[in-house]
Amino acid sequence: MPVAGNFRLFAVHVARTELLTPGMLRVTLAGEALDGFVNGGCDQRIKLLLPLPGQEEPVLPESGVDDGGWYAAWQRLPDRWRPVMRTYTLRAQRREAREIDVDVALHLAPGGGALREGPASRWARGARPGDRIGVVGPAVPNAGGVEFRLPDGAGHLLLAGDETALPAVGCILESLPAGLPVQVHLRVADPADRQSLPTAADATVHWLHRGGPELVESVAAAALPAGRGYAWIAGEAAQVRALRRHLVGERGMAREDVEFMGYWRRGRSESDPAAESEEVGPGQRVGA
Ligand SMILES: Cc1cc2nc3c(=O)[nH]c(=O)nc-3n(C[C@H](O)[C@H](O)[C@H](O)COP(=O)(O)OP(=O)(O)OC[C@H]3O[C@@H](n4cnc5c(N)ncnc54)[C@H](O)[C@@H]3O)c2cc1C
Repeated sequence: MPVAGNFRLFAVHVARTELLTPGMLRVTLAGEALDGFVNGGCDQRIKLLLPLPGQEEPVLPESGVDDGGWYAAWQRLPDRWRPVMRTYTLRAQRREAREIDVDVALHLAPGGGALREGPASRWARGARPGDRIGVVGPAVPNAGGVEFRLPDGAGHLLLAGDETALPAVGCILESLPAGLPVQVHLRVADPADRQSLPTAADATVHWLHRGGPELVESVAAAALPAGRGYAWIAGEAAQVRALRRHLVGERGMAREDVEFMGYWRRGRSESDPAAESEEVGPGQRVGA
C-alpha cells in the first residue's frame, strides 16, 4: 500500500523528451513546484499521474497537495477522472532548473514492431513539450522509497536488472566510490539499447539481450569476489525472484545483503490488483 506521509503531489509539465536508445525515452519534467522536491537517493521511486484515454491532461486531486494526503485524495476521485498511476525512478534532478528526468522503457515487442504498451509507455511515446501531468515524489529528506543502501562492510557489489532497472543502475554507478569492485548484469532488448554507464568504481558490465541468457544464468556463470558483498536486483518479477533465490540459496549471500524489487510482471498491468497483492519484493509493496 503506498505510503503517503512524506510524499507530495507536484504539478509538472513536459519540458522535452530525448530518445536515449530505441527502447528508452528520457522525459524531462519541469515546474516551479519542484522547488519542494527532495531527492532521497539513486533508486528513488516516484509515481506518475497520467491522463486517461481521451484526456489532454490528468485531473489531479485538489486536496492533499500540501498535506501529504495525495493517496487518499487520488482514491476519492471518481473512476472516470482518477488519473492512471505508474511507478518510475527519478533518474536525475536539477534543482536550479527545476527539472527532473524520468527514463521510460518503451516495451518494444520482439522484432521491434507492434508494441505491448501500457498507459505509461504509450503516454511517454506521445509526450510533447507543455503536456501536463502529476508526479508524486519525496517532499522531505529521507522520505522513503529508496532501497539501495551500500552497507559499510560490503567489499563488492552486484547490480542486475532489465531496462526498467537501467535508470537506477546508471545513477548508482555514478555515485559509487573509486575502485569498488562491481559486477553489472543488464538485460536489454538489443545491442542498440545499451547505454554508456560512467563510474569511478571498478565495474564490469555484462550486457544480455532478448533471446539470449536470462539474468540468473548470466550471474550463475560469473565468479563473485570472496568476502561480504551486496546485491541490488530489479526488473521483471519472476526473473528477480529466480536471481534472488540463486544468490541466497546457492551463493550463500545473507538475505539482508540482497535488495530485490519486482518492477513489473509479465502479462500484468501495474494497476492489475493481482499484480499488486502478490509480494515480490519492496518494489511491489512499498509505494511512493
Ligand atoms: C520502484 C519501481 C521503479 C521503476 N522504475 C522504472 C523506470 O525508471 N523506468 C521504467 O521504464 N520502468 C520503471 N518501472 C517499471 C514500470 O513501473 C512498469 O514497467 C509499468 O508496468 C509501466 O506501466 P505501463 O502503463 O507502461 O504498463 P502496464 O499497464 O503496467 O502494463 C501493460 C503491459 O506491459 C507489460 N510490461 C510492463 N512493463 C514492461 C516492460 N518494461 N517491458 C515489457 N513489457 C512490460 C505488462 O506485463 C503488461 O502486459 C519501475 C517500477 C517500480 C515498482
